[in-house]
This record gives sequence, structure tokens and C-alpha cells, in this order.
Amino acid sequence: MKLELNNVHSYYGKSHVLEGLSLEVGPGELVTLLGRNGAGKTTTLRSIVGIVKPKQGSIRFNDVELVGKEVFEIARYGIALVPEHRGIFSLLSVEENLSIAVRAGSRWSMADVYQMFPRLYERRKNGGNELSGGEQQMLAMARALVNNPQLLLLDEPTEGLAPVIVDEIVRILERIRETGVSVLLVEQNLAVCERLADRHYVLEQGNIVYSGTGEDFRQQEIIKDRYLAV
Ligand code: ATP
Repeated sequence: MKLELNNVHSYYGKSHVLEGLSLEVGPGELVTLLGRNGAGKTTTLRSIVGIVKPKQGSIRFNDVELVGKEVFEIARYGIALVPEHRGIFSLLSVEENLSIAVRAGSRWSMADVYQMFPRLYERRKNGGNELSGGEQQMLAMARALVNNPQLLLLDEPTEGLAPVIVDEIVRILERIRETGVSVLLVEQNLAVCERLADRHYVLEQGNIVYSGTGEDFRQQEIIKDRYLAV
């Protein structure tokens, strides 16, 4: 698995949001994308999955060009996005939400995800609208996994969650990484990023202003102050 964005330019109407962004995610890597609100993190994820269509540049996944392809085609190549607002069906039960997402031949069965997310097993008969924020996040991640991704894109999975639930999500991400699925994680919680990531990118106004290993990033106090301080 290899994802490579090269000189990507994306717009909303006339507003130029990604201004020549380049980044890559290698096999089995967990990479975080950091940056202030409005820096373009969500737009980067949307550009990868084809919701936003880049006007210039290239996005290659296992050497296939994704720019110009439709959302459903890109999903079929094995890229799953867990969006910020989680995108689960509130009127369907947990079990129904999962069963419509399962892809034939997936390495993740429903039983596998229930084992990884015991809370979802307990709540399997409950409707999506009866779940807590943390449970909704887990369901969204479980749905993405049963669809058998090689690359998982996560948009702020810990946002608004209580610290104990954040810890649970972090442990789940560690387990997902152990299975070899690559992850590109948008996350505001620096402690979470530093615990998990092999590498980090910092985005500012649609450009990468820093990239480095987890070890290097820990010492980058100036970068953290300049681009991530609230
Ligand atoms: P956040 O954490 O706030 O989501 P972000 O880094 O993910 O921040 P984006 O959501 O990618 O940022 O937004 C980048 C820029 O694009 C912002 O200036 C935002 O206002 C603008 N933008 C985002 N979505 C749209 C949209 N649907 N239409 C027009 N402009 C948008």
C-alpha cells in the first residue's frame, strides 16, 4: 500500500484551499495530519476519496491515479474515510449499520469487529441514535473496517469525547495498526498524535509546513507553538 499526493490543488468554488499539497503514507504507517482549524485537513481527506475534485496535481494509490475517479471507484480500491460527523445511520441498529457495510471477502468479519469493539456487541440491537458519541465513533470505525480497507482515513476521531473514551479509541487504533492497515489521522489532540504516529505532517493554509518522524516532532516546540497553539 502506498498513497502519494503530489502538488494537489483543491478549491471550494473560487476559494483555493489546498495550494500544492504533497504527502505520502507508506505500508503499515500511521501518519497524522495536524494544523489549525481551517488549515485544510478535512479537505485533504475529501480530496483523497474524491468528494472534492482536485483541479491540479496527482493522488496515486498503489500507482493508480485517483484524481478524476468517482467516490465509489476510489472506495473499491480499498480506501475508507471515517468522516468528522461519523456518517452512521441513526435509524438503523448497530448490527444493521455494520451488515450493510460488510464487503464480501473482507479480512474483517462482523465477529472480528465485535471482538475489537465489545461495546458495539453489547449495543448491537440499539439504534444509531441511541449511542453515545464514543460509541458512534466506534461504530463508524467498525463500519470502515468491515469494508476491508488498506488505508483508513480518520477525521478527528477523538473530538468531543471523554478522556477514558479517547484512551479506548487510541488502543483500538494501536490494534488496527498492528494488523497492517495504514492510517492517515487528522487529529487535534497532540497527546494522542504523539502516542500513535510514526510520522507527522503539519498543514497551514493548504501547504505542508513541517514533516517529520514521531521522534523529531517531540522536540519541535517552535513548530507546535507557531502552527498548532490555540
Ligand atoms: P477543521 O478542523 O475546522 O475542520 P480543517 O483543517 O479540516 O479544519 P477544512 O475543513 O479542510 O479545514 O477547511 C479549509 C478551508 O476551506 C476553510 O477556510 C473552510 O472555511 C473552507 N471550507 C471547508 N468546507 C467548505 C465548503 N463546503 N465550502 C466552502 N468552503 C469550505
